Amino acid sequence: MLASERQKKIKELVTIRHSLKISELSEMFQVSEMTIHRDIKPMVESGIIEKSFGGISLVSRETKGQNSNECVLCHRSLNQRLAFRLILTENRVETACCSHCGILRHQMLGDEVLETLCSDFFTDTTISATTASFVMDATIDLGCCQPQVIPFKHREHAEGFVKGFSGTVVSYTEAMGKVTGQMGKSKGCCHHG
Ligand SMILES: [Zn+2]
Ligand SMILES: [Zn+2]
Repeated sequence: MLASERQKKIKELVTIRHSLKISELSEMFQVSEMTIHRDIKPMVESGIIEKSFGGISLVSRETKGQNSNECVLCHRSLNQRLAFRLILTENRVETACCSHCGILRHQMLGDEVLETLCSDFFTDTTISATTASFVMDATIDLGCCQPQVIPFKHREHAEGFVKGFSGTVVSYTEAMGKVTGQMGKSKGCCHHG
């Protein structure tokens, strides 16, 4: 069997099984483990699979690129207080730096998103974003992405906040409309490097 045929087979196998042992592959193809290592090298380099202890595993496209310490969208480092979590299908979870990025990401993923979680700005407790109230255009600077979207569990709290720091209280859907609308007008995503 040619190396290219083996590589094709390995790719198929790892897609189905998600992880394979080098020894297993060497037995299966009746070649040395050295040969298997050579076969998988280009796949590892192209990021399709990764080496694990004594074997290889499939790099899932969803989690690739998400470093657990940074925003899935703009790669800013995460601040737990502002973080926004997206619970996705197939037990996947993504974390965005703030509601701004979380809402944009939700818009991108659509139906893949099962639930969205963020922290109430006052109490720092986890709340469901879709039922939360958000303050936009406030004068306070959270130091994350613009336009800012600040989550509150209770609408009264959001309204109280607006009295002190100005801004507008919006629902999740309204916030999504505003964020995506404003992002469309200005060039690029988050304004930070
Ligand atoms: Zn972000
Ligand atoms: Zn952000």
